[in-house]
Amino acid sequence: MHVDFHEDKAMEIAKSILRTAIDNYANRGKTHIPDVQDRLIAGFSHEYINYMLGGSLRESFRPFNDAVMAGRIRGAAGVVGCNNARVPTHDVQHIDLVTELIKNDILVVTTGCDAIACAKRGLLTPEVMEHCGPGLKEICNTIGIPPVLHMGSCVDNTRILTVITQAATEGGLGEDISDLPVAGFAPEWMSEKAISIGIYFAASGVNTWMGVGSPVEGSPDVVKLITDGWQEKVGASLYFEPDHKKALQEAIATIDAKRKALKLPEYDPKKFAKSETYLPGDYAPEKHGAYSLK
Ligand code: SF4
Repeated sequence: MHVDFHEDKAMEIAKSILRTAIDNYANRGKTHIPDVQDRLIAGFSHEYINYMLGGSLRESFRPFNDAVMAGRIRGAAGVVGCNNARVPTHDVQHIDLVTELIKNDILVVTTGCDAIACAKRGLLTPEVMEHCGPGLKEICNTIGIPPVLHMGSCVDNTRILTVITQAATEGGLGEDISDLPVAGFAPEWMSEKAISIGIYFAASGVNTWMGVGSPVEGSPDVVKLITDGWQEKVGASLYFEPDHKKALQEAIATIDAKRKALKLPEYDPKKFAKSETYLPGDYAPEKHGAYSLK
């Protein structure tokens, strides 16, 4: 069911939605609300990330940029957006993407319903560190941040752009956001707002993958414009890819291509996490990414 929104009738429309929901309550049938609780660490603003990276006396993105330049951190990704009843299984797209990204040494920032999905699976805690790639783990342990950073609600996505702008201006990773080895995902987008967010991410220079399906697939010209056309114009594209595993592979290939264009060393997870502070079990890269979906 869709309810049109008009600002001048906001209260009236809100009351009518509530009345409809209340009237439908009797038709809900049997419900199952799991009695499960989990912990999370939330609320990493761009200011806070800056101070966590640079130290309490001097905020700076230098440690992040250096870690990307050395290859300890392969890149970064923003995973955001809605839940959508049209996807095969609620939350699975979000969880799969985020766990695979950190396993591949890609730092994740998250907002909105992706963050809630992550929180429900315990992905917003430092404990998830043991399931991330060796270089990313080394950096996050040193700084004292989890590898999945909750940056707020879905109206806070501009904070993600602020973070990548800080990384771009810090130096060493090109001249523009479109030079950075970063990617954006909204695997279960649902609202029009999610589309506008995806568009301003792409327009800012971040290659962005939307899941579910494409509202413009009927027009090859529009598809060409938002992929090849925008790539040429702003250095990034907006893709619609319902298969999140395929989207992940495409994004990782793009991140590696950006690294290559910046003449950074090829990503090699075996090079890092050899510090004496690690236990022997931490050396085995095949152990990483074993995060259970149970
Ligand atoms: S628009 Fe709604 S469904 Fe989408 S991320 Fe925001 S709160 Fe979630």
